[in-house]
Order: sequence, then structure tokens, then C-alpha cells
Amino acid sequence: MGTGKLIVIAAPSGSGKTTIVKRLISEISLNLGFSISATSRDKRENEVDGKDYHFLSVNEFKKKISLNEFVEWEEVYENNFYGTLKSEITSLNNSGKNLIFDIDVIGGLSIKKAFPENTLTIFIQPPSLKELESRLRNRGTESEEKIKMRISKASKEMTMSVLYDHSVENNNIEQTVAKIKSIINNFI
Ligand code: 5GP
Repeated sequence: MGTGKLIVIAAPSGSGKTTIVKRLISEISLNLGFSISATSRDKRENEVDGKDYHFLSVNEFKKKISLNEFVEWEEVYENNFYGTLKSEITSLNNSGKNLIFDIDVIGGLSIKKAFPENTLTIFIQPPSLKELESRLRNRGTESEEKIKMRISKASKEMTMSVLYDHSVENNNIEQTVAKIKSIINNFI
């Protein structure tokens, strides 16, 4: 592992996390490269394989688990595996960048455990579960059943925010990005 820092941004699904991560990456001064996770979930229409995720079949994903190719992986939702490949960290680190992870709450803690010295963990709090539910519905990418699943997972995840280095409430995207930017700047 090189000298780059690892920045974990974790939050319940629908908290505005992906937007925040994209904004942070566009801040040139932070020198951030996106850690592209592998997943076995279906690709959404606007997503690009190898850019948003490495999309794998469940079998391909399980093969990589058995070959010990992941730093961490999780069955985030039933049959929907997500994980960080060791090769992703090596290649981004070699590029001289700091890595940013858009990852689930438990996965974020696993990254910290694997690289305790170099990792900063930031938890994004949605304003409320009700707001989270309405964001998920407005996004319109998930079925009703999947929305329910995500809400139930979110309420469990919110209790884990205390295990993170920082917890930031996302009421206003501009303020949230500015706050996180300053936390990252202090760390790197
Ligand atoms: P989505 O299906 O909405 O893209 O992601 C669902 C959840 O899986 C999100 O909380 C996302 O951050 C998380 N996730 C994405 N990549 C990884 C990963 O590599 N590892 C883990 N543990 N979770 C991930």
C-alpha cells in the first residue's frame, strides 16, 4: 500500500451520498480517485460498467470471494453482493491519488480495520428516515419492495454512525460538501 489516504463516505442509501462523492471528486485540490466497487446487482440505465461499478454475475462475484480478491465484501441486499477489490486499491494508490469510497456502513468500518492509519471515515446522516424514504421514491430506481428493504436497513445503519470518525447531517448539499471538504483537507 502506497502513501495515499483512504476516505470512506458511508450513509444509508438515499442520503445523497453519491452526489456528495461526485462533488468531492471534482474538487481537484483533494486529488481524489473513486474506488470502483464490484457488485452483482443489475446495472441501472444511467450507469457504466467499469466506471460506476464493475458489474459481475453472482457466480463471478462468488469466485472472486473464494480467490480472496476482496479487501471487504458484503451481501448488502439478498443476492446483491458488493465489495472492494484489492486490485482497485493497488491501482489507484499507484496513481498517486487519495481514494474515496462510496460504500455501505459496515463495509466502511472494514476498510478502516484493514488500513487503520490511512483511513478517514465520514458518516452522512439523512435529515430523517421520512425524508430518506421520500428521496428513494423520488429517485424512482427501486421497486416498492426494495424501498422497504432499504429503509429497514437504513434505520439499523443510523445507529452505527457513532463508530465513524465524523458524522455530518445532510440538510443542504452545498454546506455538507463544504464541511466534508474541510474535514478531508485536515486529514490529508
Ligand atoms: P447502490 O445499489 O444504491 O449502488 O448501493 C447500495 C449500497 O451498497 C450503498 O450503500 C453503497 O454505498 C454500498 N456499496 C457500494 N459499493 C460497496 C462496496 O464495495 N462494499 C460495500 N460493503 N458496500 C458497497
